[in-house]
Amino acid sequence: MSESVVFIENLVKRYKELIALDHFNLDIKRGEIFGLLGPNGSGKTTTINCILSLLTYDKGSIKVFGNEMKPDSYDLKRRIGVVMQNVAVFDELTVYENVDYFCALYIKDKNVRKQYVDDAINFVDLKDFVKFYPKKLSGGLLRRLNIACGIAHKPELIILDEPTVAVDPQSRNKILEGILELNRNGSTIIYTSHYMEEVEQICTRIAIMDKGKNLAIGTGDELKKLIKNSETISIEILNLDSKFLDEIGQISHVYKTDYENGKLKIFYSGGKHNLIRILEYLKDHEIPFGRVYSELPTLNDVFLEITGKELRD
Ligand code: ADP
Ligand code: MG
Repeated sequence: MSESVVFIENLVKRYKELIALDHFNLDIKRGEIFGLLGPNGSGKTTTINCILSLLTYDKGSIKVFGNEMKPDSYDLKRRIGVVMQNVAVFDELTVYENVDYFCALYIKDKNVRKQYVDDAINFVDLKDFVKFYPKKLSGGLLRRLNIACGIAHKPELIILDEPTVAVDPQSRNKILEGILELNRNGSTIIYTSHYMEEVEQICTRIAIMDKGKNLAIGTGDELKKLIKNSETISIEILNLDSKFLDEIGQISHVYKTDYENGKLKIFYSGGKHNLIRILEYLKDHEIPFGRVYSELPTLNDVFLEITGKELRD
């Protein structure tokens, strides 16, 4: 197993009576794009703030790069880049000056720094805005500036807390592509989001969080294998004899059927060629049908089966 970049054991964090993190565990390896997926209030930001030692906690331990993280662990903090959920830039500084300011906290050599700042600005595609003040930037551009400030010093570990919230699709895609590139360039990434599609698109492993607990962990495919459903086929059929419905329910790997308002839904648990097999059945029995589509489970289905509620807003 490769080196642990962030190791969290039995973390408990309380805000007065509220338990924000409830015996939370995590082990993130070098080279991962690790996703923390959970609804609002599940404890993602609290986890990040504990990792950074910005918050004290009640129980448990956190190691970063194999060392215990403390408020004054500056040598560890130097190796981390953070993009906070709330944009944190200086209104009095231009785009260029902002990135330079944050980079200068870590990079003292002026020539190296100039290169790093240019790289970061190119990276988020803000070249045309270097002289702009933050107030003049759109929400998406401001988020991109926030990212540039967090990553300019080329840290080994980059933590991004919901960097795409309220961002236009173009900026969102830029941000996601950018994260993949940072990872290809060698950074380990921790990425929090409540958007399952994004997390699935870029993350090597995902932890599903709810109420301060880590409910399940794995690749998108591994998480989906935790649940019963593997495929749902929907078919428009105007009239379906109950005899046929019963027979369809007997087809291998079908665990449930549902026929309502001219729409047949067939729920599968495993199986290959399910679609071909059902189409053959309809043909053999001369059952006329309209549109047909197959849906694979999403992480929302996983969340729903584990918690009994929707992940979506
Ligand atoms: P997420 O980032 O997943 O939306 P948070 O970590 O921000 O979740 O919050 C986890 C829980 O802790 C929520 O119930 C939230 O209301 C609560 N919480 C967060 N910060 C504070 C705070 N400073 N004081 C009291 N409660 C807080
Ligand atoms: Mg948050």
